[in-house]
Amino acid sequence: MTSLTCDVLVVGGGPSGSSAASWAARSGKKVILIDKEIFPRDKACGDGLTPRAIHELTKLGLGEWLADKPKNLGLRAAGFGQELLLPWNGPSLPKHGSAVPRIELDNRILQVAKDSGADVHEGVAAFDVTMNGGAIESVLTKRGEEVIEYRAKHVIIADGVRSQLGRKLKREWHRDTAYGVAARAYITSERSDDPWISSHLELRGADNEVLSGYGWIFPLGTGEVNIGVGTLATNKRPADLNLRQLMSQYTELQRDEWKLSGDLRLPWSAMLPMGGAVSGVAGTNFMFIGDAAGCVNPLNGEGIDYGLETGRLAAEMLQTETDFSEAWPNELREHYGLAFSIARRLAGLLTVPGLLPKAGPIGMRSRSLMKVALRVMGNLVTEEDKDITARAWRTAGRLSIKLDHRAPFS
Ligand SMILES: Cc1cc2nc3c(=O)[nH]c(=O)nc-3n(C[C@H](O)[C@H](O)[C@H](O)COP(=O)(O)OP(=O)(O)OC[C@H]3O[C@@H](n4cnc5c(N)ncnc54)[C@H](O)[C@@H]3O)c2cc1C
Repeated sequence: MTSLTCDVLVVGGGPSGSSAASWAARSGKKVILIDKEIFPRDKACGDGLTPRAIHELTKLGLGEWLADKPKNLGLRAAGFGQELLLPWNGPSLPKHGSAVPRIELDNRILQVAKDSGADVHEGVAAFDVTMNGGAIESVLTKRGEEVIEYRAKHVIIADGVRSQLGRKLKREWHRDTAYGVAARAYITSERSDDPWISSHLELRGADNEVLSGYGWIFPLGTGEVNIGVGTLATNKRPADLNLRQLMSQYTELQRDEWKLSGDLRLPWSAMLPMGGAVSGVAGTNFMFIGDAAGCVNPLNGEGIDYGLETGRLAAEMLQTETDFSEAWPNELREHYGLAFSIARRLAGLLTVPGLLPKAGPIGMRSRSLMKVALRVMGNLVTEEDKDITARAWRTAGRLSIKLDHRAPFS
C-alpha cells in the first residue's frame, strides 16, 4: 500500500472541494485534493450561477474568465397566468448571474486549485478511514486496484450528496426535513442568448393537475439551454413524480416558445440535500462542506455558491481552530442557520398537497412580493444588508430556529 502525507487532504473536486483546496493552498498549506473521477467530468445540475456565486468565483480569481460567459439579469418567473421579469436585487452583490455547464465550470475551478499550489490526484476514490479517537488518522482510497493511504493533519470532505465518507463517519442526513429531487438535460435553442433565466412555477401533470414541482430553462449562450424539472419531498411526503417523463413533457410544452430543436441530451437526475439538514458535519480534525454538509438553498436548489463559500470558510478555520467538532457546525449555523431554518420550513409547506395551487396564484399576482421572494430564494440577503427585507428575513429566521426541533447542522 502506498502512503502519502500532507497538511490538508480534500476529498472531492466539485466547487466546494476546489474552493477549499485553493484557499488552503494559498495560506501556505501542503494540500492534496483527490477525486474519484477524471476531469473534465459532468455533474447533474442546472448550471445556474447566482450573483452570490459570481461574487465568490470572482474572489477566487475567476472574474476575467467569467467576463466571457453569458450574463443573466434575473429571473423570468411564469405561472398561474402571469409572467414577471424580476432583476437580481441583492444590494451588496453583483447585479448579474450566469450559467456555465458544470463540465466546464468544475474543470476551471479545479485548475484554480492547481494554480494555487494544490496537488490534484484524479481517479482516486476514498472508501474508508482509520480513526484515532475523534480524529481521522488516514483516508483509504483506491485508484484502480491500487490502495493508497493518505495521512493528513486535516481532512476537508466535499464528496457531494451521497458522501461515501459520511457513511463511515456517522454523518446523518435527515430526510424528514425537505429535500429536493431534480433532473436536467441539454437541448439546442435559438434563444440560447436570452438574458433571463426562466422558471415555471406551475407544472401540470397528465390530468392537468398542478404538481408540487417547477421547471427551469437556463440559457447557456452556447446554442443550448439547460432544461430541467425539480420538486421537493420529505420522508413523509416522498416525490411521486417520474422526473424524466416530466422533463420530456415540460420540454414539449416549451418547444415552440424557446425554439427548441432536436432531442434532450445527457438527461440526469439526482437528489439535493437542503437547508443544513445534516448532523455530524465535523470531528476533531475534519469538516464536511458543500452538499456533503447539506448546504443547498431549500427554496431554489442552488448549492454552488454555498459550496464555494463553505470551502473558503473551512480553509479559514484551519488557521484559527484546533478542534472542529463544535466550531464547524457553529460556524455553519452562524452563517446559514437563520436563512436555512426559515427556508426549509417554507419548503416543507410546499410539499403539502394542494397548497401550491392555492398560494401560487396569490403570490404571482404581486410583483413586489415576487421581488422579495426572488431575493430571499436566490440567497441574495448578505450579513451586511440592513434593509427592511433583510431584517424581516433574519427576524423570521430567528423565530423559526427557536421552533426547530433540530436546528440546521445539528
Ligand atoms: C438536477 C440538479 C440541478 C441543480 N441546479 C443547480 C443550479 O442551477 N445552481 C446551483 O448553484 N446548484 C444547483 N444544484 C446543486 C449543485 O449541483 C450542488 O449543490 C453542487 O454541485 C455542490 O458542490 P459540491 O462540490 O459540494 O459537490 P459535487 O459537485 O457533487 O462534487 C463532489 C465531488 O466529489 C467526488 N467524489 C464523490 N465521492 C468521492 C469519493 N468517494 N472519493 C473521491 N471523490 C469523490 C465527485 O466525483 C465530485 O467531483 C443542482 C443539483 C441538481 C441535482
